[in-house]
Amino acid sequence: MAITYLKTADPRPLVENKDIRDIVHIMLANIDREGETAVRDYAKKLDRWTGDIVLSDAARRAACARVPEDLKNDIRFAHGNIQRFAEAQKATMGECEIEVIPGLIAGQKQIPVSSAGCYVPGGRYSHVASALMTITTAKVAGVPHITAVSPTRPGIGIPDAIVFAMDLCGADLILNLGGVQGIAAMAKGFFGGKPTDILVGPGNSYVAEAKRMLFGEVGIDMFAGPTDSLVIADHTASAETVVWDLISQAEHGMDSPVWLVTTDRMLAMDVLARAPSVIDSLPEPNATAARTAWNERAEVILCDTREEAAEVADRYAPEHLQVQADDLDWWLDRLSVYGSLFLGKETTVAFGDKTSGPNHVLPTSGAARYTGGLSVHKFTKTVTWQRCNAAASHELALRTARISRVEGMEGHARAADLRLRPQAV
Ligand code: NAD
Repeated sequence: MAITYLKTADPRPLVENKDIRDIVHIMLANIDREGETAVRDYAKKLDRWTGDIVLSDAARRAACARVPEDLKNDIRFAHGNIQRFAEAQKATMGECEIEVIPGLIAGQKQIPVSSAGCYVPGGRYSHVASALMTITTAKVAGVPHITAVSPTRPGIGIPDAIVFAMDLCGADLILNLGGVQGIAAMAKGFFGGKPTDILVGPGNSYVAEAKRMLFGEVGIDMFAGPTDSLVIADHTASAETVVWDLISQAEHGMDSPVWLVTTDRMLAMDVLARAPSVIDSLPEPNATAARTAWNERAEVILCDTREEAAEVADRYAPEHLQVQADDLDWWLDRLSVYGSLFLGKETTVAFGDKTSGPNHVLPTSGAARYTGGLSVHKFTKTVTWQRCNAAASHELALRTARISRVEGMEGHARAADLRLRPQAV
C-alpha cells in the first residue's frame, strides 16, 4: 500500500481528557449533592446567567416573535425535510410476531421512551439546526415528553432563533442552561421536568463527558464530541470546492479535525496552497478556530489507488465522509465506516448540518465503527413478548427443567415443573 502523508496532525489533545473527566466528575457530584442550587451556581459561574432557568411561555412567545419571517421560513424548510426523513425511518421500523414452535407465539414491539432530553450546543455558535435534528426526531418517534436546553448569552438568554426552532419542533420544557449543568438538570428532571430516559445531542468535550458519565442512570444517543470530516477526492474534483468543504468543517472549532484523502498529487498541493487564504477570508473568531484546526488537526494523505483511499477512510471512521470522485456508485457500495456520507460535488456536509434531512447528530472520534447517527430508532426500545398453549408449555417445561438443573438453578427447574401439572398453575 503506497500512502504518503503530505500534511500530518499534532496527535496531542488540546485539553487532556483526564482534566475534563475530573472537572465533570466534580460538577456531577456537586449537582447530586446540592441539586438545583448547584445547577444555578454553575450557570452563573460558567455562563454568567442569573435569570430564570425555566423559559416561560411568555418569554418563548416573545423570542419567537422577534425572529424575522424569512429566517422562520428557512427553519420551517429544514424542519420539514428532517421530519420527512425521520418519518421515512419510522416506516422502516417494524413489529413482528411468529409461531416459534406449534402453540408458542412470540413477538416484538418498538415503544418510544417516555421522556427525552435534547442538548442544543451554543457556546461558540448558535446551533439552531441541532434543535431541529434532536427534537423533531424525538417527536416523530412518539416521545411524549421532551425537555430541551441550550447555553444562554449573558443578559439575553438562549438566542431567539434556537427558541423558535425548539418551539416549532414541539419541546415541552425549555431550560436556560448549557454544559454539564444543562445535561444533569435534564437527566434528573430538575426545574419541573420529567427525569429523562435518554439524553441526546452534540456538544463540546464537557457535554460529551457528562453524557458518558450519566450513561446507565439514563440512556444516551452516542458519544458525539468535536466534529470531524474526511473528504475523498480524485482528479475530477475541484480544489476550490474541496478546500471550502474542509475549511468550513474546521470552522466548528480548533479541536475539529479535517482530513483530505486523494489519489491526485496536483489536487493535494493546490488545496494546501489555497487553505491559508480561504481561512483568512473568514470573519473572527471563525478564522482563528479554522486556522488552529487546520494547522494542528488537519491531514492530507496521498494514495495510489481508490481502493487504498477507501481503506484509509475506513481507518479514520469519520463522522462526515464526502466523496468528490468519479463513479459514485462504486464508492457508495464500497464505503461502510462513516456517520453520514455525502456523494458528489453538488452536495456538501453543510447541507447535512443544516437543512437536507438526514440527521447531523453523528458519531465522532471513531465511534462510526460501531454506531450510526441519531435516528428515530434511538428514541425507541425494541421489546419482546411471548405466550403459549398447554401443549407448547408442556414441551418447554420438560426441556427448561433439564437445562436449569444442569445449570444448578433448582428454582427455575421447579417453576418449569409446575407447568407439567397445568391444573396447579
Ligand atoms: P456547547 O454548548 O457544547 O458548550 C458550551 C457550554 O460548555 C457552556 O454552556 C459551559 O457551561 C460549558 N463549559 C465551557 N467551558 C467549561 C469549563 N471550563 N468547564 C466546564 N464547563 C464548561 O458549545 P460549544 O463549546 O460551542 O461546543 C459545541 C460542540 O458541538 C463543538 O465541538 C461542535 O463540533 C459540536 N457539534 C457537533 C455536532 C455533531 O453532530 N457531532 C453538531 C453540532 C455541533
